[in-house]
Amino acid sequence: MDGSWKTIVEPFRIKTVEPLGFTTEAEREGILRDACYNVFAIPADKVLIDFLTDSGTGAMSAEQWAAIMRGDESYAGARSFFVFEKAVRDLTGYRYVLPVHQGRAAERILMGVACCPGKTVLANSHFDTTRANVEASGAAAVDLPVPEALDFQVPGPFKGDMDVRALEAKIRELGPGNIPMVIMTLTNNSLGGQPVSMRNLREVSEVCRQYKIPLILDVARFAENAFMIKLRESGFSTRPAAEIAREMFSHAQGCMMSAKKDALVNIGGFLALNDPEWVARCREALILTEGFPTYGGLAGRDLEAMAQGLREVLDEQYLTYRLRSVEYLGEGLRRAGVPIVEPPGGHAVYVDAKRFLPHIPPDGYPGQVLACELYRRAGIRAVEIGSLMFGRRQGGTFIPAPMELVRLAMPRRVYTQSHIDFVIEVFADIARRVRSLRSLRLLASPPRLAHFTAKLAPEPV
Ligand SMILES: *Cc1c(COP(=O)(O)O)cnc(C)c1O
Repeated sequence: MDGSWKTIVEPFRIKTVEPLGFTTEAEREGILRDACYNVFAIPADKVLIDFLTDSGTGAMSAEQWAAIMRGDESYAGARSFFVFEKAVRDLTGYRYVLPVHQGRAAERILMGVACCPGKTVLANSHFDTTRANVEASGAAAVDLPVPEALDFQVPGPFKGDMDVRALEAKIRELGPGNIPMVIMTLTNNSLGGQPVSMRNLREVSEVCRQYKIPLILDVARFAENAFMIKLRESGFSTRPAAEIAREMFSHAQGCMMSAKKDALVNIGGFLALNDPEWVARCREALILTEGFPTYGGLAGRDLEAMAQGLREVLDEQYLTYRLRSVEYLGEGLRRAGVPIVEPPGGHAVYVDAKRFLPHIPPDGYPGQVLACELYRRAGIRAVEIGSLMFGRRQGGTFIPAPMELVRLAMPRRVYTQSHIDFVIEVFADIARRVRSLRSLRLLASPPRLAHFTAKLAPEPV
């Protein structure tokens, strides 16, 4: 927008609306009890504002819905595939494009081809499904984030960066032949949605080239990363976001994408690569479990919507609004005295529950206590990233997670500023009586991915 207005407006108007689920506090108390204090067990129509995830929860544009109607549903060689392939090639510059139904399918296929027991994949941080797929192949996954990424109170422009010295040391220790790939996750979802700088990407790429190790990007949020480079890294302020994104891709040999984030669709993903040998084997795996390579487990219309979304997401009005709306929530929480991971990420604000609820010990699940209180008080749903998700019990002793966070992930183009103002007001209310919140007790949990199905109860007074 021209001029120097302080207010950044949502760069769209609303054509289709969906009613929100209003409930009373008494109803929500019953719902929480029935859900055993696990927010994943709450029916979505009983949620007022849903910050559980930004994955597949965005609103599509009129152009995307129009593209849906153009979908060619032919089994092989559908026109929609070529539209999609061109969009991905234009964006990434990679030769071969394989559609998949979502990000983890790309991970499973690539790790199945490139990894095996005895190998190690290095990353700035593996996203949890990426780590799980590396480990399922028998290989090990090692994270090498910069040290400041773990200091939540100190803001930094590029806390998603990889520790390049640690990377070189690890390569020398393990031997380059034992490292099938290095992964850079843009933005770094597991550590607060923080961006990776172009400078870091260039340095990591240089090290990988020197040791002949392929560099693969995990680009679920490539556009948010590109725009944060434009806003924060010197030398990029006048360059279009699309050009910055292409430069990011140019430093690697391929990428995996969960299109449920920055392709602005509700389902989809892809794998894009340059290496014909990897591609031949990935294609075989794709046919075996996803579908023929020109649809990869999706409908033709999904490919059209992704192609359109990949172009739209680089619109700088959209990106300005997107980053500003997340930052706006972060500012409001800070003002309400709520400690957050600094700075706010590209897709989410992470509340530091360890500092916000210091009277609740890790085995009282402070993050889950806060998530439940947000729902009980106002129908807001968020997800705990702490000891419920990552804590472990070994022989009767409890090993807490290193952090106790609550993630408020913002769906794309879904909520308006008044929704965010409401969330801030609710947090201010909780902040005033935070000392009265009580611990939760874990009743039952399976050994893996416990947070999805765990059952909890409030500690008796
Ligand atoms: C969501 C996500 C994935 C996995 O994608 P799905 O579409 O959920 O299977 C992988 N990496 C990152 C960084 C993600 O955010």
